[in-house]
Amino acid sequence: MKTQTLFSRNSPLGAPLKVIRQTFSAHQGKPARRLSFVSGLHGDEMEGLYLCHRLIQALRRIKDTRPEEFLGEVHVYPAANPAALNHGTRLWPFYGSDMNRMMGPHPGKSLPVQLAQEVFDDIQEHSDMAVDIHASNLHLNELPQIRIIEEFGEELLPLARQTHTGIIWIHPMAGVFESTLGYNLNKLGIPTLVIETGICLRIEPETVDRLFQGMMHLLVEQGVLASLPEGIPPLPASRVVYPGEVAQACAKHSGLFISRAHLGQPVSEDEIIGQVVDPVAGVVLEQVTAPGAGLLFTLREQPVVHAGALLARVARDLEPRP
Ligand SMILES: [Zn+2]
Repeated sequence: MKTQTLFSRNSPLGAPLKVIRQTFSAHQGKPARRLSFVSGLHGDEMEGLYLCHRLIQALRRIKDTRPEEFLGEVHVYPAANPAALNHGTRLWPFYGSDMNRMMGPHPGKSLPVQLAQEVFDDIQEHSDMAVDIHASNLHLNELPQIRIIEEFGEELLPLARQTHTGIIWIHPMAGVFESTLGYNLNKLGIPTLVIETGICLRIEPETVDRLFQGMMHLLVEQGVLASLPEGIPPLPASRVVYPGEVAQACAKHSGLFISRAHLGQPVSEDEIIGQVVDPVAGVVLEQVTAPGAGLLFTLREQPVVHAGALLARVARDLEPRP
């Protein structure tokens, strides 16, 4: 394993800001394929850091014991936004800027922009394919999923299936994606999968274990590793959710959302999944019902809601439940 520092700047707050790339090169000759894993672009999303830990640990063991397994090259960027990670905040402190909204062509020369551009250029230079790992925000808990913008669906869906992630959600484009790492790499012809899982500032080890196993499958399917390492089981196929198959429930009132459902449970149409209450007046403002029959794959975790806030997403069953 080769450790490379691709960005280092002194910080007035203590340790210098450094972005590290860990590289596992091909055993001999030109790598068959170069795959990069990126995490920590948002400093409060921890699942990706732990997933990168699992990957580095496993790949280092293979490199030490069976180096000939490496037909291709792997790069891991475990902590791509050190300033925000040090603070445990989504955004770069003081600047208040989102590093995953500064990728691709971007004006400005501020420190966050410089770092974002250097990270972007380095990934572009070293990757034939990339996986960008995110957790959800403070508000919503998510089942592990790969999110694919519709225009890249045809190319990315077969690759996403190779990861066996529980859900692959193909969704419409929105303006907010234009300056993200995933969108810009895909635009440049470097297929990039974006993982979204759990909730920020938490780590669910079992979820990460499963994602880790999926990434090992991907490395084999992509020809980067010659065979699946011992202990990685076969995994069930992903469920693909197409645009139009997602129904969402939003709050009609401002208040406290009291959830009566569990993430990942199957729900029937109009089944009660919670209430919005006014705790000061002691009244129930509304019964929240499932917006369709299917799999509850997003659920509100932070109870304080304003009218219009997203409470749940359901991946609709294609056939009605009996
Ligand atoms: Zn994120």
